[in-house]
Amino acid sequence: MSEKTINYERLKRGGFLRQKQKEDLFSMRLRVVGGQLTSDQLRALADASEKYGKGEVHITARQGLEISYVPFDDTEDLLDELQERDVHQGTCGPRVRGVVACQGNLICPRGLIDAQDIAKKIDEKYFAMELPGKFKFAVTGCPASCMKAQENDLGVMGGLEPKWVEDDCTYCGLCQTGCPVDAIKVEDEALYYDRDKCILCGQCLLICPTDAWIRSKEGYTIYVGGKVGKQPRLAVKLTELVDENTLFGIIERSVEFFKKEASSGERFGDTIRRVGFEEFKGFVLE
Ligand code: SF4
Ligand code: SF4
Ligand code: SF4
Repeated sequence: MSEKTINYERLKRGGFLRQKQKEDLFSMRLRVVGGQLTSDQLRALADASEKYGKGEVHITARQGLEISYVPFDDTEDLLDELQERDVHQGTCGPRVRGVVACQGNLICPRGLIDAQDIAKKIDEKYFAMELPGKFKFAVTGCPASCMKAQENDLGVMGGLEPKWVEDDCTYCGLCQTGCPVDAIKVEDEALYYDRDKCILCGQCLLICPTDAWIRSKEGYTIYVGGKVGKQPRLAVKLTELVDENTLFGIIERSVEFFKKEASSGERFGDTIRRVGFEEFKGFVLE
């Protein structure tokens, strides 16, 4: 049996998770931003998993990657080798976790924001920041919410408010058929748009053959307080279609609020509930 003492807290901060096996085996979580890796990074992972693990890489539920079966004595070497090849440790515990994001408007035809860029900016500023509890960000390119903005402590979603240009409309009815929430009604030579029903998805702009729907406003919609796990709860919408500066101001204030008000181990949504949504809203939107 090994005589050495393992500093598990240090390992945990760095994204190492001790495995269930009796030997000193660790699973190493890696830092992945928005699920994006280069081919060089993938080659580095393949090499490291063969050299130090079992030649396997596990994809986690939040776009993370883990190399498992790494003996304790090899952890430092593994870390050094990966860092040299631009692959870095992930994190766990009461910290800001890896930021997840979809492809956004660089790739996806429905994308309304550059989700990857926003994810990188959040990661650069907040990744692994120590907080009273874990804190998860998600960035999703449009209200389809493939990245599940509503299941995270703070979710960012692209949005677009459409505007109808009467002179360009032929009343073909395609936008009525394509709107996912029945916010458009076309009758004879009339079109009705219900802003209260509209979820800001921008589908009508994609569908209309005559460009009779145009952009009125676009930006970032912010959800707060979501989580999954043993007691799941969907996030609530804090504000919609803000610009990038306002988005990052709200993120900063949200993190400040969490630092100031949260009890140890608490999730953001629980803190908001305990303190009161209106008080929280006043603090972050002031
Ligand atoms: S959330 Fe929207 S932009 Fe992102 S992948 Fe899904 S459909 Fe595309
Ligand atoms: S799809 Fe365009 S042209 Fe057809 S009804 Fe809608 S706005 Fe008018
Ligand atoms: S933006 Fe989406 S929800 Fe709103 S009217 Fe257009 S298709 Fe419907």
